[in-house]
Amino acid sequence: MKDWLLQEQYQLSEQIANNKLPHALLINGVQGSGKYELANWLINVLLCQTPQLLNNNTPILPCGHCKTCRLYHSSTYPDHISVVSDKATIGVDSIRKVSQFFEKTAQLGQAKTVLIAAAETMTVAAANALLKTLEEPTENSFIILLSSSRDTLLPTIISRCRLIEIRPPVGSELLAQLEQANGNNYSNLSHLPELLDSIIQQQYLEFEALFLAQLQSHVEKNKWLKMLNDSPDALRWLEKILTNLMRAENGWSLSDGINSEKKAKLNKDTLWKIYLKLQIMTKQVKMLSQANRQFMIEKFVADVDNILQN
Ligand SMILES: [Zn+2]
Repeated sequence: MKDWLLQEQYQLSEQIANNKLPHALLINGVQGSGKYELANWLINVLLCQTPQLLNNNTPILPCGHCKTCRLYHSSTYPDHISVVSDKATIGVDSIRKVSQFFEKTAQLGQAKTVLIAAAETMTVAAANALLKTLEEPTENSFIILLSSSRDTLLPTIISRCRLIEIRPPVGSELLAQLEQANGNNYSNLSHLPELLDSIIQQQYLEFEALFLAQLQSHVEKNKWLKMLNDSPDALRWLEKILTNLMRAENGWSLSDGINSEKKAKLNKDTLWKIYLKLQIMTKQVKMLSQANRQFMIEKFVADVDNILQN
């Protein structure tokens, strides 16, 4: 288990020990933050017939060998279901199955649990169907939602769940835990793909070079636009580069920072305007289909051009 999850484990353990665990939990955190790990531990603890109880040194732990633990580990535990969509969205049918599941009595008499991964991909109809289930909890039943972008979930869903916000360490502390030398003082878990994979790191550097060239001379516009459209990480990279540029502009030190020649001709005001456009565009893209994504990105590139020319 990741070090930064331990505090949450203790808190949840205490709630379980005092019979105060909420019926619905929403675990939010970036990719790689350990959401699934935490949920998996919690579900296993709830199902286990002979858990190792909370003490000063360890949170509650599943025994790993009782009947229910064994069934759970072989994915045949009858009183748990995971909703994991293989499509881009979780539809209303999947959520109806959850309500039907909770209506039935537990087969083994332990807790009944449901895990909904990538809850932010629920359609509006699915989210509305889930609301009803959240409002009418059945005894000893728990529903755990995972999400990596909480702001795209319906506020009515969030307000009915106990929110667990996973905040992994950043900068040197994170790099030390991951045993990584790349990165800078502001590295965080959202940078994991390029921190851990040299090919992605190479693509990131190429993207950064194209973007910086674009900011100064507009020469690489088509190449940059293509990469923005093609790379799944591009929007996150843009935010990372802009944030780094603004930090450098404010005189903050970055151990692998963007050097001053590269950031010439850009001032805080310009960077901030581009950053705001990016925020708006990213939010819209998260909620739109692929076809619209391309349109929004092209519009963003045109907006950046306008900002740079004024
Ligand atoms: Zn057990």
